[in-house]
Amino acid sequence: MGAMTDRSRKLTERAQLDYPLTAPATDGSVITIAPGLLWVRMPMQGALGHINVYLLEDSDGWWIVDTGLRIDKVKSLWLKLAAEYFSEKPLKAVICTHFHYDHSGQSAWLSDHFQVPVYMTHGEYFAMRVFNSGGADIGSPSQRDFFHRSGVPEDLIEDIIVSCSKDPFRASSPPGYIRLFDQQSLQIGSRQWRIIVGQGHSPEHACLYCEDEGILIAGDQLLPEISSNVLVTDIEPFANPLALWLQSLDRLEKLHQDTLILPAHGPVFKNVKVRVHQLQSHHERQLNVLRDSMTDAQPVTAFQLMSCLFKRKLSVMDNILALGETLAHLNWLMDNHEISVSTDSDGISQYCAK
Ligand SMILES: [Zn+2]
Repeated sequence: MGAMTDRSRKLTERAQLDYPLTAPATDGSVITIAPGLLWVRMPMQGALGHINVYLLEDSDGWWIVDTGLRIDKVKSLWLKLAAEYFSEKPLKAVICTHFHYDHSGQSAWLSDHFQVPVYMTHGEYFAMRVFNSGGADIGSPSQRDFFHRSGVPEDLIEDIIVSCSKDPFRASSPPGYIRLFDQQSLQIGSRQWRIIVGQGHSPEHACLYCEDEGILIAGDQLLPEISSNVLVTDIEPFANPLALWLQSLDRLEKLHQDTLILPAHGPVFKNVKVRVHQLQSHHERQLNVLRDSMTDAQPVTAFQLMSCLFKRKLSVMDNILALGETLAHLNWLMDNHEISVSTDSDGISQYCAK
């Protein structure tokens, strides 16, 4: 049996899930998923092209889950939705599943314009404030050293730093927030939502689970068509986010099989166990590629191993994601005592199979 190509695997995986609803266009159109639960798409640059946001009706107002990027198009769509939906019942609260710009980018504006609170977990709120305030130390000696140790060529390090500092989507942060906790209950209209915190893609990602009706608002914690980024960055170079990610998937796998999953990207779907298994297998394949690339005890750098995992041509920003993803899998293998790392005379980390 030959190895499945990525494309045919994607098609097979897609066919194993159920998609009970047609997605709305990315123009402010609204799909009713259930009474008082609406699905809208906000536009986004890049291959994804959209982010799903959800509107939840309460007895005295509306809650929204995720906000879209800080771009004018998204703001005008929110104003259009407000005219249609928030005149009888006002917007009441904003929930951000996590800090990434496509999820939290309009939180400060929405909170200020509609005078409503923003709900987030502690880890996500403070990560957002650090990134929005430029506190991530782009181009710092420790960030340069992180890329150098990973074996990234010096000219590419420069390009990466320039590209990070030009980040066009940095937003302002709401000045305060209401903290969400794992397992906390939120009563919104007739539904009780339980917060399920996941890790690995972001520090403390909040999903909302309505057990009575079998609905999960999943954010980026469970996507139907792509695997969420699981990255190691210079801020926490020895982190093992893949272990956290796989543990979080184990928790989602236990949800009822009939659960309707409302992801942040891609179509609404069913078949949670199958999707969890597909994602577990994806990471197992990535780990196996690295294992196979390190069998001969010839030391290799993270940057060299990155090209074994990601064979397509990468943009500068892709390099950051691909390197972060490679390091996430290497740190998992390190913690699993399968490989070792040493520093060569140039200060570059060299990985070997044990
Ligand atoms: Zn995200």
